[in-house]
Amino acid sequence: MNGWRPARVLAVRPESASARALVLQVPSWPGHLAGQHLDVRLTAPDGHQAVRSYSIASAARRPGPAEVEIGVELAVDGEVSSFLTGEVRAGDVLEVTGPLGGWFVWRPGDPAPVQLIGGGSGVVPLVSVVRTHAGVPDAPELRMLASVRSPAVAMYAAELAAFDVVWTREVPPGSTRPPGRLDAELLAATTVPAASSPTCLVCGPTPFVEHVAELLVELGHDEARIRTERFGSAR
Ligand SMILES: Cc1cc2nc3c(=O)[nH]c(=O)nc-3n(C[C@H](O)[C@H](O)[C@H](O)COP(=O)(O)OP(=O)(O)OC[C@H]3O[C@@H](n4cnc5c(N)ncnc54)[C@H](O)[C@@H]3O)c2cc1C
Repeated sequence: MNGWRPARVLAVRPESASARALVLQVPSWPGHLAGQHLDVRLTAPDGHQAVRSYSIASAARRPGPAEVEIGVELAVDGEVSSFLTGEVRAGDVLEVTGPLGGWFVWRPGDPAPVQLIGGGSGVVPLVSVVRTHAGVPDAPELRMLASVRSPAVAMYAAELAAFDVVWTREVPPGSTRPPGRLDAELLAATTVPAASSPTCLVCGPTPFVEHVAELLVELGHDEARIRTERFGSAR
């Protein structure tokens, strides 16, 4: 049965200039699929509580004791993200519930090619798919396209290095493409063609996700094969 459970912070790792990965030790984790998220509940000394959702970066897990990683990006003036990226230390205990979400997932048995598209911290659940996919023998083709403001704020840069990145404001040294937004031409050039009927997972700020989903449909992708996860507002 799901419910709030304690999660001890095992490790805190900088993930970019504005983000951190938190590795949580959960004694009785129900297991999760790649792409799912959990909710974190914080309780202040005066009883005030705040709950926010965070995607799971760890590869899919079976039920049992587990280390579950989340990646949190600081939202300016954000109540919960400022605490999770600034104040939480190893040894602290948070409350979590999950896993949550049954649609925005990738299951290893799916024979279709996989196209992942993430904006900003939207790469977090996609990293879970990449890590899960890496452990599956004879897995289908997988491609990822990430939209990132600048190298300084690139979360999971080691994972992104194996894939395509569009830098929207500042490019890394040696990059041949100038900074710019993701458009239909770039999408068509870097992603699995619609004719191959990939499963598309698109995640990030709401305007990014809506824009990309529209472009995919324009490129001929079947709407039923486009799974989206919206993280809320974007600055
Ligand atoms: C299913 C799901 C999965 C998510 N996974 C992740 C994840 O893996 N990593 C992650 O960092 N976040 C993730 N989020 C977003 C996260 O839940 C919070 O919304 C975010 O951390 C901001 O919360 P806050 O309490 O810091 O800000 P709040 O105090 O709620 O808001 C402060 C200010 O930030 C703005 N704001 C709120 N949310 C966002 C946002 N997502 N982006 C930019 N500005 C925002 C608000 O408009 C407001 O002005 C996810 C959201 C959902 C719904």
